[in-house]
Amino acid sequence: MVSRRDFIKLGLSTTAMAAAGCRQLSFRRRSKAHVVIVGGGFAGASAAKTIRKLDDSIKVTLIESNPRYLTCPGSNWVLGGLRDLESLGFGYDQLALHYGITVIHERVTAVDAEKKSLRLSNRQTINYDRLIMAPGIDFRWGDIEGYDAAVAEYIPHAWKAGQQTQTLASLVQAMPDNGTIAIVAPANPFRCPPGPYERASMLAYYCRQHKPKAKVLILDHKRGFSKQDLFVEGWKQHYGYGTHAALIEWQSIADNPVIALAAKSKTLQTDFGDQIKADVLNVIPAQKAGLIAQQAGLCDDSGWCPVRPVSGESTLRPDIHVIGDAAIQQPIPKSAFAATSEAKVCAFAVVDLLNERELSEPVWVNTCYSLVTADHGISVAMVYKLNEAGEISALAGAGGVTEHTDRQSLYLESRYAMGCYDSITRNTFS
Ligand SMILES: Cc1cc2nc3c(=O)[nH]c(=O)nc-3n(C[C@H](O)[C@H](O)[C@H](O)COP(=O)(O)OP(=O)(O)OC[C@H]3O[C@@H](n4cnc5c(N)ncnc54)[C@H](O)[C@@H]3O)c2cc1C
Repeated sequence: MVSRRDFIKLGLSTTAMAAAGCRQLSFRRRSKAHVVIVGGGFAGASAAKTIRKLDDSIKVTLIESNPRYLTCPGSNWVLGGLRDLESLGFGYDQLALHYGITVIHERVTAVDAEKKSLRLSNRQTINYDRLIMAPGIDFRWGDIEGYDAAVAEYIPHAWKAGQQTQTLASLVQAMPDNGTIAIVAPANPFRCPPGPYERASMLAYYCRQHKPKAKVLILDHKRGFSKQDLFVEGWKQHYGYGTHAALIEWQSIADNPVIALAAKSKTLQTDFGDQIKADVLNVIPAQKAGLIAQQAGLCDDSGWCPVRPVSGESTLRPDIHVIGDAAIQQPIPKSAFAATSEAKVCAFAVVDLLNERELSEPVWVNTCYSLVTADHGISVAMVYKLNEAGEISALAGAGGVTEHTDRQSLYLESRYAMGCYDSITRNTFS
């Protein structure tokens, strides 16, 4: 449970934001400062909107390569046949119209931290007073020999929604009725800790209806995973987990990682020389911060971006903040929900800094639902605060995982999963 004091603080920040949103926006007022945001995903779009709601005298420019954003949340549901890909798409018109955000659809190709300027793919230069980087993730190609961006076009990772999701769905639909799908799950940290297991559930859900003799094999570079007990319980109920006819099998390969992939024969090779062949391979590579964050010198040796938790400001480059999946914000997981929470903390801090006010004490929230079947949902939630050492830590007694596992409660959780998706996307993009 959240303590009464924390709850009041959470309520106050929400109330402050709501009040800011009610204010009449006057887009023609002279700008106090220019904040530029790179990346229009959950993190970047939320930060842009929150800054404008808090202080409409700040000019905000959002730079995003794609005119339409396809959410990864919900993309596993596409594989289970529960949603179509197009329904996961959001444009940026409403952010421009309702909040006066300048939206530019170009790729940022370089950041000059000294001159406080950015270079775009159309060669335009843009100056900023403060920069917020929210570029998401990139992959550590090279960890698995024979697997790179070109091979991933036909052996998909599907860890960025879009064509990759479509390719994986088509391969599964076309495989033999008794085929095997091998999902290779990465080591920590990576985007969406419960994602590979929801994916296995959704693929098994599809196969149970269309290819009941198929198998989904998870080869995991970890020894355990998010919401494991709840997933395993669900797999036992619905997919015969642990029996000879199981639709899902999970194996830890933490001590025997995949080191090579032969694309033609769809075979994985592990460190001990095991050969694993499958009809469909879904290899989710190890990850790092999005390329532009690396090029801008915002990453440390881990490949992720160290930041000051209280503001999201980079510890490596002044006046640049990093939010969302690209940032190191442990123990907060890399999720869309957490990305919007980090974005709001950062937006409050940026507005305070530009107004020369003291920074307020942040609170972060994460909630993550997963579907085991269409009518069986599970969840994890947590509240985070700074501890006395100034590090982010989970608030004792707050949050937890799904408690009630009777049929009706799990059914309700599946409906909350859809509700959570609708509310987070509406909150971010409209
Ligand atoms: C299968 C799957 C299921 C998931 N399910 C859930 C879920 O149920 N709930 C949940 O909370 N999270 C979920 N997630 C995690 C969630 O998708 C991420 O945590 C979230 O997208 C992170 O947001 P972000 O804004 O940091 O990055 P992104 O969403 O990746 O956005 C980054 C944006 O930056 C843009 N960009 C990058 N570089 C540049 C550049 N140089 N110039 C211009 N633009 C650039 C990109 O085009 C992109 O639009 C899931 C992830 C996956 C893979």
